[in-house]
Amino acid sequence: MKRSGGLFLYIAIIVIVFLLWFATSASHTSNVSMKRFRSDLKNDKIISAEIKQNSEVPTGAVQYRVKGSGTEKYVLYVSNVNSIEKELDKAGQLYSVSDVPNDGWVKIFLPLIIVVGVIFVLFMVMMSMQTRTMMQDGGGSGSSKMLDFGKSRADMLMPENIPFRFNDVAGLHEEKEQMREVVDFLKNPDKYKKLGARIPKGILLVGPPGTGKTMLGKAIAGEAGVPFFSISGSDFVEMFVGVGAARVRDLFAEAKKKAPCIVFIDEIDAVARKRGAGLGGSHDEREQTLNQMLVEMDGFNENQGIIVLAATNRVDILDPAIMRPGRFDRKVYVGKPDVREREEILKVHVRNKPLGDDVDLAQIAQTTSGFTGADLENLLNEAAIRSAEENRLYISMDDIKTAFVKVGLGTEKKTRVISDREKKITAYHESGHAILFHLLPLVGPVYSVSIIPTGMGAAGYTMPLPDKDEMFMSREQMLEDIQVSLGGRIAEEMIFHDVTTGASNDLKKATRLARDMVTRYGMSEEIGAICYEEDDEEVFLGKDLARERSYGEETARRIDAEVKKIMDMCYSKAETILKDNRDILDASADLLLKKEKIGRDEFEALFTRETVG
Ligand code: ADP
Ligand code: MG
Ligand code: ZN
Repeated sequence: MKRSGGLFLYIAIIVIVFLLWFATSASHTSNVSMKRFRSDLKNDKIISAEIKQNSEVPTGAVQYRVKGSGTEKYVLYVSNVNSIEKELDKAGQLYSVSDVPNDGWVKIFLPLIIVVGVIFVLFMVMMSMQTRTMMQDGGGSGSSKMLDFGKSRADMLMPENIPFRFNDVAGLHEEKEQMREVVDFLKNPDKYKKLGARIPKGILLVGPPGTGKTMLGKAIAGEAGVPFFSISGSDFVEMFVGVGAARVRDLFAEAKKKAPCIVFIDEIDAVARKRGAGLGGSHDEREQTLNQMLVEMDGFNENQGIIVLAATNRVDILDPAIMRPGRFDRKVYVGKPDVREREEILKVHVRNKPLGDDVDLAQIAQTTSGFTGADLENLLNEAAIRSAEENRLYISMDDIKTAFVKVGLGTEKKTRVISDREKKITAYHESGHAILFHLLPLVGPVYSVSIIPTGMGAAGYTMPLPDKDEMFMSREQMLEDIQVSLGGRIAEEMIFHDVTTGASNDLKKATRLARDMVTRYGMSEEIGAICYEEDDEEVFLGKDLARERSYGEETARRIDAEVKKIMDMCYSKAETILKDNRDILDASADLLLKKEKIGRDEFEALFTRETVG
């Protein structure tokens, strides 16, 4: 009841604001009734009168001024201008007639139109919400709760309507493997309950848009034969405080009724950004929504049979609170597909499309580096449209090539088609990092190396073992870290005798580390054990601006010299290692060019085959 009360308040406020506006906008003229007009006319009070008429229809208005009331104008809207003219004539009142173009009337009635429009839109929104909730409830119980914004807007798919199974999700082999246990749990929660086994409540799917996160979620529900609730984080971000939280409450109430089931929250970053982050403004609504979500997740126990999947492409901006144990304590990375996976995805999407015998899916996979599953699906769809336009019965390679140009251009910003040269540079760059990671004793091992564009500025990445948390870093370790950072640039220089801007981030990171060694950790003999930097918590964005130097010119020069010394030393050490291992560098780059992404085993195999220098 309280919720709908709040809603009426909102509507009332909106209506009042519009009425006020309406009233003020019409303040210099006031409307009068026919009766008033006739009495003014009869009592000879009218000073001047003007008939405004529309040339196309006989409706119009008579506007007049009255003795003793200054410049105030009175307006009477009439449906028939002719009859008013007759009355004025009969009374011997002089008047002028002016034609008002059609849109003039629109202007006069605009406020009214807006008020009516707003009320209409509000009404429609409510109606559509109403029907949604009714669908959810299977068409009954919700009907009395008209005007209820707090109802969750989740869509629910019953298992028989879920279009996906694991078979439809191409690639993502490890990810699917990880999800099998979840499927099994959803199929027989009792089995797990009896053994007291704990299954995660929440799983975070992290990856760029279009990589199949939603699909994977649906496939899990499809495989397990359970309902699939889905809602998007951005749906929660409403203009009214409290609505999001109410929706969350409702969503989970529904889910509990239908358990076992999957709850899928898309774009969770829309509600679960780090609290207090962001620029200005209060984020009450978001925080309330997030808190409610956490309360709900804490509230049901592991074996209740609800698994919450959440998707995001930005794990770095998420509030750490949502990743605590018992919440989203498991992360699954859903990356962009490599060559082989792209071919598998293409195969899934050509299942229902007749192909000409010249179509070479492997080749298409080769030329679509950086494409996501959604991009590939789109590519094939465009090709199919083209062949239909030309009344052919199958898709030819030519259709796909044409579609490629179209899609490649259409999504230029999102998935730029990368040239072979760029690919090669990236392959050497990442190999440079990876080889140093592997060979230097205190860092590494390498977990995976990839030259698939991440879509967030990086052309590739070299990833050490994840979650290797260390409390302290020694001086030697930091030096090795700097060497690894420089490795990409050095490799580029060795092979292409040139460097690209792609290496600039590495350089920044390396320099910052070297500077910290000197000014913070007292790791340079020349400068000695002294800390020149105040502790600066990363509280707000203007961090670098707030950094104040606490030392003089001379010290600054010595610090710079020391930093340079460290950098130079690391550079030459790293260069030596890479030069000594030139054969491995080439082999690694070749392998990367072929496979785009290689794992630890494949990478390490490069070292056992060749002799290490
Ligand atoms: P996300 O949720 O990660 O943004 P979706 O699951 O919505 O991506 O994927 C959008 C579409 O892209 C899917 O409907 C499917 O057609 C296609 N797609 C994406 N990934 C795959 C995949 N791994 N296998 C097959 N098709 C995929
Ligand atoms: Mg999605
Ligand atoms: Zn790099």
